[in-house]
Amino acid sequence: MALTGIQILKMLPKKNCGECKIPTCLAFAMKVAAGQSEIGECPYVDDEVKETIGEASAPPIRTVKIGAGDDAYTTGGETCLFRHEKRFENPTGIAVLVTTEMDDAAVNSRLDNFKKLQYERVGVLMKADLVAIKDAKNDAASFTALIKKVTDDAPIANIILISDSADTLAAAAKICKDKQPLLFGATAANAAAMAALSKETSCPVGVKGTNLDDTVAVSEELIKAGLKDIVIDTGARTIKAALEDNVVARRSAVNKKFKPLGLPVITFPCEMTDDPMMEAMIASVLIAKYAGIVVLSDLQGETLFPLLLERLNLFTDPQRPMVVEEDIYPLNGPDENSPVTITCNFSLTYFIVSGEIEGSQVPSWLLIKDTEGLSVLTAWAAGKFGADLIAQFIKKSGIEDKVKHRDLIIPGYLATIQGELEEELPDWNITIGPREAGHIPAFLKEWKPSS
Ligand code: SF4
Repeated sequence: MALTGIQILKMLPKKNCGECKIPTCLAFAMKVAAGQSEIGECPYVDDEVKETIGEASAPPIRTVKIGAGDDAYTTGGETCLFRHEKRFENPTGIAVLVTTEMDDAAVNSRLDNFKKLQYERVGVLMKADLVAIKDAKNDAASFTALIKKVTDDAPIANIILISDSADTLAAAAKICKDKQPLLFGATAANAAAMAALSKETSCPVGVKGTNLDDTVAVSEELIKAGLKDIVIDTGARTIKAALEDNVVARRSAVNKKFKPLGLPVITFPCEMTDDPMMEAMIASVLIAKYAGIVVLSDLQGETLFPLLLERLNLFTDPQRPMVVEEDIYPLNGPDENSPVTITCNFSLTYFIVSGEIEGSQVPSWLLIKDTEGLSVLTAWAAGKFGADLIAQFIKKSGIEDKVKHRDLIIPGYLATIQGELEEELPDWNITIGPREAGHIPAFLKEWKPSS
């Protein structure tokens, strides 16, 4: 049963010192209750209280880390069924499969794609997160050789080790223990051995269920053995079954606090079809519906990019607009004669506009006004991007010290405020820029200062 903020407050030292980076203990307690802060961020609570509050305020889906250091991948930690209720926490991990049955060229090709297919969008680096290495021949020697190859060729990859044999996984874990891989393959038959291996190596464990009931039985056994960092595969190998299982697991965890299913789910679109396009479509459904990890057979730009974009959209906090800081952004090495363009601080607008300016190769100053993350027209309609506010920002921004001219380019959609802005900024000449970002390069190449 989750604790309320007031119940948590009673267990805090009430120093109101702010060392948790929150000004008061009450505010901190509220944030812990809402799952927005960790109890460990207060340095003054003892271990017993940490355990009590930590357990009570833990998210219904356990947070599980795969990997070590700053590049470790985190899955789970989810608290709700629908994104609009709160937000989704940890983006679904995208993994590529390599197996001991593949030849070197095929493995190299998949690893190359894993390393090279990276995209930057709205300031976020989007890429696949994990490599799943499968002991397809039930042979420890070829499995460990493949693990060595992957860790040498793609050292940044977080690793999932897949084998039906706890002994093989034990041998494999020895050679990459520092990478804290997910050891996948706990079944009813080997649960005790897998639990012992997980304790010995401190690596998370993956349950390989045959159906939902079997998955519950195995995860219950692992939990009883004292394991916490568990990921589950319900054994579903059709899109319908996987979707149903994912929904049942999430509902049981969130609505009923059912711990054996309160664990991130790993899914295998790579084993559901031979058609790469269908595999991507299955993955897209499972990313939308609660998969903690999707394992793909290969990564191709035309399917990986849409999946990454879908993931970015789903795991963006809907209550917090994506913003960039209010500032003057120099692009292409501007000087005192370079054009000055202003726009809002909605990050998508910033990245599209700045991308077009950079592409134009015209040295420019881009002014970003804080509009609380609203786009140009919305901000204007909400009274956050009017002539008076733009004028105030221009005066205090320091742009007047950076350029000799007094020419300001405003977004085409703000043409109606041109006159008002000229009244607010009598020293400035206001030019209406293009409505569409795609027309910015041609516009800037033609631009000349008015005097
Ligand atoms: Fe209160 Fe602890 Fe935060 Fe200090 S660090 S304000 S004692 S919760």
